[in-house]
Amino acid sequence: MPDLLPYPALYASHGGIWIADADGTRGVGRREAVTRAADTPIIVLNAPLVAQRLGYPELSGLDLLELFAFVHPARFMVPTVKGLAAATGLESPAEEALSAELLRHAAAVLVERMRASGWAERDGAWSIGVTLSRMRWPWGPVVTSAVARPDEAERGLFARLPEWEDQPPRPPARPISIAAPDALARLDALTGDDRERREGQRAYAVAASGAFAPRMRRDAPNMVLAEAGTGIGKTLGYLSPVSLWASEARGTVWISTYTKALQRQLDQETGRLFPDLHERAAKVVVRKGRENYLCLLNLEDALQGGFSGRAAVLAQLVARWAAYTRDGDMVGGDLPGWLTSLFRRNGSSALTDRRGECIYAGCPHYRRCFIERAGRASAQADIVVANHALVMVNAARGRDVQNRPTRIVFDEGHHLFDAADSMFSAALTGQESIELRRWVIGPEGTSRGRRRGLAARLADVASYDTEGSAAISAATAAAQALPSDGWLARLSEGAPFGPVEALLSAVRGLVYARSVAEDAGYGLETEAAALDGPTVEAAAAAVVALDGLLRPLIALGGRLEAVLDEPPDWLDSAARARIEGAIASLGWRRDTLAAWVAMLGRVGGPTDPDFVDWLAVARVDGRDIDVGLHRHWLDPMRPFAATVLKPAHGVLITSATLKGGSDWSQAEARSGALHVEADVRTFEVESPFDYARQAAVLVVTDVARGDIGALANAYARLIATAEGGTLGLFTSIRRLRSVHARIADRLARENIPLYAQHVDPIDTGTLVDIFRDDAHASLLGTDALRDGVDVPGASLRQVILEGVPWSRPTVLHGARRAANGGQAYDDRLIRARMAQAFGRLIRRADDRGLFVVLSASVPSRFLTAFPPGTPVVRVSLDEAVAQVALRLPTVTPLLHQGA
Ligand code: SF4
Repeated sequence: MPDLLPYPALYASHGGIWIADADGTRGVGRREAVTRAADTPIIVLNAPLVAQRLGYPELSGLDLLELFAFVHPARFMVPTVKGLAAATGLESPAEEALSAELLRHAAAVLVERMRASGWAERDGAWSIGVTLSRMRWPWGPVVTSAVARPDEAERGLFARLPEWEDQPPRPPARPISIAAPDALARLDALTGDDRERREGQRAYAVAASGAFAPRMRRDAPNMVLAEAGTGIGKTLGYLSPVSLWASEARGTVWISTYTKALQRQLDQETGRLFPDLHERAAKVVVRKGRENYLCLLNLEDALQGGFSGRAAVLAQLVARWAAYTRDGDMVGGDLPGWLTSLFRRNGSSALTDRRGECIYAGCPHYRRCFIERAGRASAQADIVVANHALVMVNAARGRDVQNRPTRIVFDEGHHLFDAADSMFSAALTGQESIELRRWVIGPEGTSRGRRRGLAARLADVASYDTEGSAAISAATAAAQALPSDGWLARLSEGAPFGPVEALLSAVRGLVYARSVAEDAGYGLETEAAALDGPTVEAAAAAVVALDGLLRPLIALGGRLEAVLDEPPDWLDSAARARIEGAIASLGWRRDTLAAWVAMLGRVGGPTDPDFVDWLAVARVDGRDIDVGLHRHWLDPMRPFAATVLKPAHGVLITSATLKGGSDWSQAEARSGALHVEADVRTFEVESPFDYARQAAVLVVTDVARGDIGALANAYARLIATAEGGTLGLFTSIRRLRSVHARIADRLARENIPLYAQHVDPIDTGTLVDIFRDDAHASLLGTDALRDGVDVPGASLRQVILEGVPWSRPTVLHGARRAANGGQAYDDRLIRARMAQAFGRLIRRADDRGLFVVLSASVPSRFLTAFPPGTPVVRVSLDEAVAQVALRLPTVTPLLHQGA
């Protein structure tokens, strides 16, 4: 056993607080724990969580999660005592009271690993350890005494990262079709001989193959809409034609998901196609939006003094990770999701390229850039695993037209409508417009960092091309009309500056004038109709200002194109790439501005029936955070069809809940299929699960609506009876927090850990990891957990829905409801949400579970949303609790809290 460090360890849960030191372990009160933590360096696990449990926000200490991130960067660990025990090869404690002692032993193991000669992540540790020590990182002295000083100076991070290489473009994909026997043979190879032959999956694979036939008419992709009930194995079902087509046609298939969870799962499933890791790395590329990836230039800036305090420590730990990461993905990739939460997100977003400030080939790290690498790799890959938003962005404004997606599988296809809705919308708000101002002008006043405006980014073009230079100057001058720092305060003081702030001020005034008092504290909105004279006049003045910016940006785009068409001597490949990058980001800004101008052009005039326009004040905890005008398509599948479907050759849209009704009309409307002249084929196969035996729906009829105490009591009783393993779903964050506050301690006394989105300082992905890892844990959450949580087995055996998931009564919802059949439209949405929530419960043939709806009055028409055969009963809470006790499988015994 390695030597223990001379520090005590502190463990705090809802069930109690313990301190372990050289004298043993003892339970302590909150006051003593706080005093001890304030006086002595103390070992903890997840300091923000401990701080919250102690009610002592200043808590800092020797956080084992930070040490783990240093010792094993880019390695996964569930951030709980159990997860830490597994990661350090220790036995998980049998009593919660022994957890503090385990923390001390885990620290010793991690320190010992740094001393061991075979430590895989040694490279770079010495230099970063010394730097962290200088920053007074609590683990600094421990690390520098454990890590041996290398004989030769370590290479810096940027020199160690590999460079990508340009590859010639791929020839166009060959026109081939996939015969059913070939798709089935590939499916058999993927599922293995020992697997039960699943007829549904085989039929699905054949149906999915239809999307890969050669296209016969322009703008008419081969479209297949396929609903495959849970458990069919649809991923391998479509991977078989996907992989066949990619290898035979020598083309790329994009597989798109809505949730990161499915994207991660798909990436793992492709391991069956390419068991060899190197081959897989070349053939399968996971891509996300650029704001997910580490920007090396931003990291360099942070390491060289751009960050201070805790953010600077995070930058060093991210630098440690950057040397070992597979792909540089900071959000849902191999950077532990909990790492940035430890720093309260301090600085993490500044390490990615969120604001489109990339300077492309002008960047010293361009050839090592993770984003550029992923983009190039995807052009050569067989399979690109992406998300709906990125597929749409690439189809709409991908830099390389040759590489825009033409064969696409949209999994989680029931979310295409929502993804298209946000992609093809416009929002002229204070936050959006100040971003545009910064992008054009660059840093102003006291702002720091390396952000540069257009003039600095395109200095070489400006000095070469007089017209280009004039356009940049004109754009810089016009951008002065956009809101600047302090705009929100000026709005609330009634002293806006410039035409756009004046418009936002008028918008804010109208929104408040038309709101009802009950709305206070939440986002407020009102339809953009019957506007008053001052607002219409302010909109007209803002149009002039925005148009004044749009024109020079259009002119500049033209000049940049001209420079590329007739290249001057100085235009080497790096400068060309940089100008191409500038053209792409200019195009995006121009589109945004044009959409704003079009939206404002309608203010005061007749409404455009294709759009829904409204004014809104976004608020958090009763404070304004943004103000603006919004425009969404009434039917966002129209621009989606024009931008994504028509240029594509083959599209498979699939999901477990795609159809959404007794016929395919809804799926055709919500997938965009109605707007293309294609022969759309449909296919459906039911889940193979025996829902009558595996599940039941209990509608609890005696929990009064609006009675938060009764709601909390119902949650507590149901969770306690199930001994955890419960996913609790809410439609309101406020109610979620209220219920959590009432039941967390009560459940803790029964040794049932309870986690909650919007309460625990832990990111959602990590919360699900924790929940999956502990069969006694329960998790409360909102929309993001209703879909995209895949927890097979005993860890999820009960789903509780707080009530009917009604739609929020927004302006947009009201307009769509009116245009799509009123109540029938609402009903379809609610049934779909209930079906998605139910879908979390039974993931495997041996799963058992109960779905509980706490609502006295669920209309019967919603209760057919569940898979055929699922028993549905209306019961009292007492009866529901009895059913839970009777029907749910027993899992391992609960931990004891101990002395
Ligand atoms: S090329 Fe762009 S995104 Fe990549 S490191 Fe440089 S500035 Fe960042």
